[in-house]
Amino acid sequence: MMIESKTTPMMRQYLSIKEKHPDCLLFFRLGDFYELFFQDAIETSTALDITLTKRGKSGEGKDIPMCGVPVHAYEAYLARLIRQGYSVAIVDQIEKPEEAKKRGAGAIVKRDVVRVVTPGTLTEDTLLEAGKNNYLASVSLLKNKELSIAYVDISTGQFFVEDAKKRSIISVLTRIQPKEILISEAIYAEKELIELWQVWKKEIKILPNVRFNTQSGEHQILQAFHVASIQGLGDFSETRIQAAGALLDYLKLTQQGKLPRLERPKIISTGSFLQMDAATFRSLELLQTQQGERKGSLFHCLNKTVTAPGARLLASRISLPFCQKKDIEARLDVINYMSAAPKVMTQIRELLSKTVDIQRIISRISLVRSGPRDLGGLKDTLCLIHEITTILELSHKKMPPSFLQEKLNEKLQGFEPLKQLLDSALQEELPLLTRDGGFIKSDYHQELFRLRNLKNTVVEKIKELQEEYSNQTGVSSLKIKHNNMLGYYVETTSMHANKLQSHDRFIHRQTLVNNMRFSTKELVELEQDLSQVNEKTLQLELEIFTEITKEIINKTESLVIAARSMAELDLLISFSLISKQRGYVCPEIEASEIFEVQEGRHPVVEFSKPEGSPFISNDCSLTCQKNIWVITGPNMAGKSTFLRQNALIVLMAQMGCFVPAKKAKIGLVDRVFSRVGASDDLARGQSTFMVEMLETALILNQATEKSFVILDEVGRGTATYDGLSIAWACLEYLQAKNKSRCLFATHYHELAEQEKFLDKLVSYTVQVEEWEKKVIFLYKIIPGKAGRSYGIHVAELAGIPKLVIDRAKILLDSFEKENTVHAFEEEAQDLPLFAEKGEKKENLSITQELTTVYEEVKKLDLNDMSPKKALDFLYGLKEMM
Ligand code: ATP
Repeated sequence: MMIESKTTPMMRQYLSIKEKHPDCLLFFRLGDFYELFFQDAIETSTALDITLTKRGKSGEGKDIPMCGVPVHAYEAYLARLIRQGYSVAIVDQIEKPEEAKKRGAGAIVKRDVVRVVTPGTLTEDTLLEAGKNNYLASVSLLKNKELSIAYVDISTGQFFVEDAKKRSIISVLTRIQPKEILISEAIYAEKELIELWQVWKKEIKILPNVRFNTQSGEHQILQAFHVASIQGLGDFSETRIQAAGALLDYLKLTQQGKLPRLERPKIISTGSFLQMDAATFRSLELLQTQQGERKGSLFHCLNKTVTAPGARLLASRISLPFCQKKDIEARLDVINYMSAAPKVMTQIRELLSKTVDIQRIISRISLVRSGPRDLGGLKDTLCLIHEITTILELSHKKMPPSFLQEKLNEKLQGFEPLKQLLDSALQEELPLLTRDGGFIKSDYHQELFRLRNLKNTVVEKIKELQEEYSNQTGVSSLKIKHNNMLGYYVETTSMHANKLQSHDRFIHRQTLVNNMRFSTKELVELEQDLSQVNEKTLQLELEIFTEITKEIINKTESLVIAARSMAELDLLISFSLISKQRGYVCPEIEASEIFEVQEGRHPVVEFSKPEGSPFISNDCSLTCQKNIWVITGPNMAGKSTFLRQNALIVLMAQMGCFVPAKKAKIGLVDRVFSRVGASDDLARGQSTFMVEMLETALILNQATEKSFVILDEVGRGTATYDGLSIAWACLEYLQAKNKSRCLFATHYHELAEQEKFLDKLVSYTVQVEEWEKKVIFLYKIIPGKAGRSYGIHVAELAGIPKLVIDRAKILLDSFEKENTVHAFEEEAQDLPLFAEKGEKKENLSITQELTTVYEEVKKLDLNDMSPKKALDFLYGLKEMM
């Protein structure tokens, strides 16, 4: 933007700052408002629905558009802008007006950006969702093949690095749902990734390639984590360094040089966690439904946590279940132990619900953005932690599981000194902001005690003065009051004013309708004393605040571990409660390729069923000898539900959660693949069938003998024989090559015949009964193959017009009799449906006889008909029928 000479100094200052932050809306502090100008103002006024005004003229003589938000309430406006994807640069005064004055009469106060707020770099509770992580991600690509993603939640300090393939990066992004993604110009231009960036276009931020430089990336990492060698942090390849380095660089940029407290980057390796691709993640509706709602997702169904960190842990556990037996069993042991002590569980849960989000508080402290209430919250939480550990220890009648003892209970110990420090320093009632003062107890610090006493003495003195003035003037009703304009003053009614005016001591300051106000030399001096004392007191309180925060920072590592332990405790108690309430069982985990579930249920469908309509449980047994089930059955019979329920049981078991079944034995699964339902992906220019084939290709190319695959209606999106052939071949491939455990639902009843050719495949169907021409779904999976599809029945239930239903029944009937498409053609010729020519033909499902009647009636000339003839005709008709 050109800086014109005619513009005012303030506007020049604005323009020079804006020039450095062209991508951000500039919140420019002027008095009690953050003002926005030019295009920023136009966009913001629309985005926030606030009034657009103008202020002065630009260099070209045009009005400058302006809008503003009050400083005291700016966070709410900021939150709305960030949610809409904007980045905002906050410009504050960085010197006092007195300092500006020293530079000359016309000098304006220096202002600069104190922070850039972007969707991925939020720390305030008001801007964040409590139960969700807020990730900033960065992606780097090297030599067109190695790809790494680094992601960080600066509100909690969690930092991860992960490798991916070009085709699987979407899975990682879908899983972590970053609010902002940093990419280089080069990677943005990558042909194979163009579609991907289209999907994430609201979140991506394109940075110059140099920001992903390996050398400077390494430097950033070493500096941020105070290590001498990068290898000390783990196995950091060049791409991992680039991704993590770019991330740290961006954080510094947005936080104006300050880095929040970050945990050392954790490298997510494929072997430790169960993997899922983006399609599986979406189709199993893990964190949200396909419509984007939380309600109806697995998360919603399993969330009984009472803390925000607990809810965040649940989300990340669902996204990344374990793959190692020891990790899973450690959690299952705790749930088992807790289930036997429901009272203890309730007590701990009650205490946990009162704790605060320690990780987010620590992050705010490290960015010097915390307030007295953050410290107060921490103090209360440390007391609660103490109570929790006491209860845990008392409850140890029998040996507690080692995970509960070592990883949870013991990690909550050792905070007594910090608790005492906070206890002795903080007042009971705390202000929101440090600048409000009054949050440190007087007896915590000698000087503070002295200053507060001094203040009390001054206040006392003012009271004494009031009495003295009354006695001296004989006006007993006069009062000493205070306001910001006059400071301390004496006020009396107009009637008595002359009594004060007759004394030199009282200097007239203000006349109101009924009152007159005076100041005195003593009051002015006391005022000065008091303001000095207040200033010193606040200064001292701020120093004490900083000292305490330093103590907290020293304890960061153990506090963060304790916070994680509390989240884990919250999650496991939540699992244990759910298991008890809903009759879930502890799965047996083994390192085999078995999957045996007795009386399994779909956790979400069962949870959302209205009372009185029970969910029908089903067994499922996949063994090394028979590891593919082909399930045929009518529409709406429960095939997809059965497929998904078993995939969810795998996930829940490997999350370390009990499962909805009577018994479950699960051989560890490395990846779950789900191809259930399909929709167009118009954003990426792909048809339903193309999406279906892409997803199936991914499964056939990647599933291993440790994987669990559910496939629903593969091949349905194309012509019957094409689809059938594709589905048939896929099953052959799955048995011969992938060797995965697989549930395959289909409407191609012919596929059930594959049982004869593929030795690992068994055919199952879903039981239905016909009663009084109605179909009753029993939702029971039984061996065998489906007889009919009952698609027309479902169409009828859906409200397809009766004419269409009747017609479809006739067509189906003749098609089933002759079993050829030719029959269809004949039917279609015999009974042209919805013919439009001639007068309106009614009753299109009429039989041949009715057509004859129709023709006869049509031939009649009613004007030429006697009553006798008409009666004869009716008799004739009756006979014919
Ligand atoms: P289509 O072939 O038309 O896709 P489908 O056989 O896959 O149908 P589902 O979508 O699984 O059928 O189930 C249809 C509905 O039946 C579900 O929405 C659910 O409400 C109910 N349902 C499914 N399984 C059960 C069950 N085991 N117990 C009770 N209700 C069930």
